[in-house]
Amino acid sequence: METLNTFAAESLALLEKKHLGRSLITTERHEGVMVYRNGKSLISFSSNDYLGLSRHPQVIMAAQMALTRYGAGAGASRLAGGEHPLYAELESLLSELKHTEAALVFGSGYLSNLGAIPALVGPHDLIIADKLVHACMIDAAKLSGATLMRYAHNNLEHCHALLEDHRNDYQRCIILTETVFSMDGDVAPVKSIAALARRYDAWVMVDDAHGLGVLPDATEGADIIMGTLSKAAGTYGGYVCASKKVIQLLQSNARSLVFSTALPPATIAAAIASISIIQKDSELREIPLKRAQYFSSIMKKSAAQSAVYPVIIGEAERAIAVSQHLEASGFYVPAIRPPTVPPATARLRFAFTAQHTEDHLNDVAAALRGHL
Ligand SMILES: *Cc1c(COP(=O)(O)O)cnc(C)c1O
Repeated sequence: METLNTFAAESLALLEKKHLGRSLITTERHEGVMVYRNGKSLISFSSNDYLGLSRHPQVIMAAQMALTRYGAGAGASRLAGGEHPLYAELESLLSELKHTEAALVFGSGYLSNLGAIPALVGPHDLIIADKLVHACMIDAAKLSGATLMRYAHNNLEHCHALLEDHRNDYQRCIILTETVFSMDGDVAPVKSIAALARRYDAWVMVDDAHGLGVLPDATEGADIIMGTLSKAAGTYGGYVCASKKVIQLLQSNARSLVFSTALPPATIAAAIASISIIQKDSELREIPLKRAQYFSSIMKKSAAQSAVYPVIIGEAERAIAVSQHLEASGFYVPAIRPPTVPPATARLRFAFTAQHTEDHLNDVAAALRGHL
């Protein structure tokens, strides 16, 4: 017990020294873009609820009705009686949206990657991943036991060279990338990656966590599309879209699906409502990117490609200071530090939503200019 606490205290002290300590701060999300945090009302640029669907009346109503009708929890894993009828409806909507034969819903985006990747590749196989893919793809790659190689961010030549030099030493090969990179906001050339992969019999799997609902075409060409229901869809859960056979295999072999309880019916009902809105409302879908592009233009920086736009600061300590200045001016813009991003690239990460107005953007840009 004593060594345990000593270990924890020493590890924490080390993190603090590097300005990498993290703590949970209670944040109440209000209507629109307002949050209440550290005793203040702030305009938030931190939400991945890009379309505001977490508060959409139809989404809330769907969840309320399912909650009343089916109760709070699923009661079992999907394979052992937790296979609620709403799952099939959600999965058919997702596969329709992504133009695949089938889809499979998991407990979260993290659990989707953690289940799917080790079900597809193992110790004799090769994973080639973009240098900047999300931690859960890397965790899944490690769990799979496959050899993991990384290519420089969005660098097709490097990816090509790895395929050329190493593909033949392994049985199966999968290439992993995000569509919209979560901390950089830039977009992968998925179609070109897919064309390259075909020449080497490699499969392409994309993480579309920040593309869903914002960039409908970003997944085109991928063999396997995973994503989350917790960002633009405004609820919770994750999914994989692929061919029928692949989805059938995942139903048996994805351990995070097999050994974890099904999602609450209300969550699935909410996701059905929000995915339906995403599918129908193209005007709504276009707003987050427009807002991001407006911000990048008034900041006179390179044009935003998605709803995510980082302002790179450099050292973690400075990024925190700028974030604190913005908070004092009434804006919540989180400082993102290593290990979430590479060393010396600490940044402010702006996420733009359909609820932001041009006034919000003008105001935060003015406050930011004062502190850069
Ligand atoms: C948020 C995120 C995930 C995880 O999704 P959750 O549903 O929150 O577990 C996976 N990949 C990327 C790129 C993400 O940004």
